Amino acid sequence: MSSHTVPLKALGAAEALAGPKEQSVGGDCLSEPACRACGSHAGDLVLDLGNQPAADWLPPRGDLGPDPVYPLQMWLCASCGLAQLVAGPSTTEEPQGIEPAAVIAQAREAVRRVSAAGLLPHGGRVAEYRSPHDGSWMDLLVPYGLSPACEGAPAEVVLDCFGLMHVADQAAAVAERAARVAPGGVLLVQYHSLEAIVSHGQWNLLRHGHYAYHSTTSLTKILAARGFCSLTGWRFDLFGGTVLLTAARVADGGRPGPSVELLLRQDERTGVRDATVLRGLQRQAEDHAARLHEWLVAEQTAGRAVVGYGAASRAVPLLVFAGADRTLLQAVADASVAKQGRRMPGTDIPIIAPSQIADHEPLSVLVLVPDLLSEVRASLPGIEASGARWVDVAVLGP
Ligand SMILES: [Zn+2]
Repeated sequence: MSSHTVPLKALGAAEALAGPKEQSVGGDCLSEPACRACGSHAGDLVLDLGNQPAADWLPPRGDLGPDPVYPLQMWLCASCGLAQLVAGPSTTEEPQGIEPAAVIAQAREAVRRVSAAGLLPHGGRVAEYRSPHDGSWMDLLVPYGLSPACEGAPAEVVLDCFGLMHVADQAAAVAERAARVAPGGVLLVQYHSLEAIVSHGQWNLLRHGHYAYHSTTSLTKILAARGFCSLTGWRFDLFGGTVLLTAARVADGGRPGPSVELLLRQDERTGVRDATVLRGLQRQAEDHAARLHEWLVAEQTAGRAVVGYGAASRAVPLLVFAGADRTLLQAVADASVAKQGRRMPGTDIPIIAPSQIADHEPLSVLVLVPDLLSEVRASLPGIEASGARWVDVAVLGP
């Protein structure tokens, strides 16, 4: 994959919104991708965010760029229904983020539900596939009498929590996980559902390094090709819609369980396999970036300083797409020490510690990761005490 560079000065909104000249959403994708899960070439380009920096590569503040950028596009396989990243840089640095309390609480509740369903055999082994960004569930599983499996060994419980999406070769990754499930064992896969991404217009979850955007529909089909039947599906509000799917080998194929059927019907109502529906994300991306740009300009014109909160990967395409720079957004605060002292890629906006927000005397603190809003509001009472307000980037008006 060749990279391009853009000047460090943020793209103007109009320039950013125009996207790449040689391709358009709805047209044929020039690279003719093969599905990462089923190998099919039949599919549609549904979202094109143009050239974007690698979201997890946070350059040191003294590095003035230009930052390498790469095409950022989502393609929907017409055969298995997997929405996926077309291409991108293969390696990125990953400064460790702070695990939000909501993620930890959800993991605890998910394990409780799996146990209540009788799917955690006492004395069983667990093979865990993790996301590079999130914590382990092992400490939650050990009290139920489970223990970690040796590397590569079969396990009664094979757990993948947000891990699968980080693997480029989806076919190989699913095969590996399925092969590790011991006879009579269960496979647990937790994913941010495509249904939620589409329903909530979460277009900025498309990012380099996240290769697959699973729906219950696509994952059930992909697992069925490995002889696994989806038994149970629990939906959580985390990130707007997270699903934990359990699956097991069934001799004659079997039928998905009732809770899975409900999720499949919701997928169908939302239209997760419909390229026309998914292309709605493109319009939402353009609207969202334009609204953010207009709001930042209005605040700047009125002389009201704005600081951001949450240097998360999903904030990167939004800021780049909106043409944000430090004249519009003075800094982005983040609790992760590894991110402080760096800058938001594709822009000149520095990343600071939350304790430094007051130095900028902002009238607004723009929360770039809406899931964090209640948490940071509670942990930083000084913001409102100083007369500033928290602003949710998801609900910005022009
Ligand atoms: Zn496919």
